[in-house]
Amino acid sequence: MHVLICGGGVIGCSIAYFLARSGVKATVIEGTGVACAASGKSGGFLARDWCEGSPLAPLARRSFDLHAQLADEVAGDWGYRRLDTYGGFANLGNPGRRFRSNYDLGWFADDVAMSQALGSPETTAQVHPGQFTIAMMSAAEALGAELRPGRVTGLVRDGDGVSGVEVDGDFVAGDAVVIAMGPWSILAAQWLPLPPVFGLKGHSLVFATGDRVPAEAVFLECREPSGAVLTPELFPRTDGTTYVCGISSEEALPIDPARVAPDPGSIARLEALCAGLSPVLAGSKILARQACYRPVTRDGLPLIGAVPGIAGAYIATGHSVWGILNAPATGEAMAELIIDGAARIVDLAPFDPARLRPLDPARLRLS
Ligand SMILES: Cc1cc2nc3c(=O)[nH]c(=O)nc-3n(C[C@H](O)[C@H](O)[C@H](O)COP(=O)(O)OP(=O)(O)OC[C@H]3O[C@@H](n4cnc5c(N)ncnc54)[C@H](O)[C@@H]3O)c2cc1C
Repeated sequence: MHVLICGGGVIGCSIAYFLARSGVKATVIEGTGVACAASGKSGGFLARDWCEGSPLAPLARRSFDLHAQLADEVAGDWGYRRLDTYGGFANLGNPGRRFRSNYDLGWFADDVAMSQALGSPETTAQVHPGQFTIAMMSAAEALGAELRPGRVTGLVRDGDGVSGVEVDGDFVAGDAVVIAMGPWSILAAQWLPLPPVFGLKGHSLVFATGDRVPAEAVFLECREPSGAVLTPELFPRTDGTTYVCGISSEEALPIDPARVAPDPGSIARLEALCAGLSPVLAGSKILARQACYRPVTRDGLPLIGAVPGIAGAYIATGHSVWGILNAPATGEAMAELIIDGAARIVDLAPFDPARLRPLDPARLRLS
């Protein structure tokens, strides 16, 4: 069997790794660059139990455990570590209310109050998401998978099934096709009966903080001097950088992933926020000012499974804010589904693409 995986983000590369580990030939087709989108520009924060009470809980628990296993099993260093996680409040530039601090983390301004421990090394961890994605692709290649540069421009049908895809106009044959193009998976609604996937834009900064920041992830609720509330997330990494995200905006997804660019106003606002939150961030060089789109579905749950009515067609996307966390268990489950006809370890029923109404291709507006 030869499986064609459209998209070299964390989901596509994880599926390739688990297929290759089971001896199945996989080819990842990536139009811009492995991890060029959200999989390279996101937080990389992992939590074992933050999806409890949602259908995502078993996927998240399995995936959190798989992240630890992969860090032991797979060659390479992608900054995996367990860490403490805190939550707090800040009232920046407002002389009014001060919050009570229960923890002194040492790298925040005086008016930032750390009120809660949200996770411990037993329940929270992190990876550098881009390095993790690239390591999954390299590990898959070491087991026989291939990376094929090129843009998927169509899907080739053979009766009720698929026989391959079109890459920049050329036919590439395969026995199964997996759509894993993140928010660009909406393009596949032209070719297959699939529900829509939307892209939500988020901005982030990467600071060179060296060893001045300990291994502590932080989630804050901040009131700006204007009164607006922002919820930044701060993740110091093993490579001496600190990643901060926090400002979303509603711009349309560009059809070409290479054209995703940060909005200067959002970046300036995030920079001002960071400078107010922490003297360490205020004094550190900014290495990256960036934006990316997370893939979301109408009901907030991912689409992981077979495309109804089309033999050999599958989709794995819509992981929203937990794509890095849930990539390993998604890869494992997709490999089981494609090879054995059913996922054994995690029940994929809540993520069945057939639960949502397919998009009418006539309503697809691509810019
Ligand atoms: C600001 C921000 C912070 C986040 N933080 C976290 C976090 O801390 N923890 C967590 O678990 N998740 C986090 N996420 C979510 C996570 O980043 C995403 O869910 C995940 O990266 C999605 O991966 P993907 O592989 O589905 O999509 P993507 O990373 O978008 O990859 C899709 C790939 O498909 C390629 N592609 C597109 N069109 C084509 C085509 N026609 N042909 C070939 N290739 C194509 C693209 O070039 C891209 O490489 C965050 C997201 C954002 C936006």
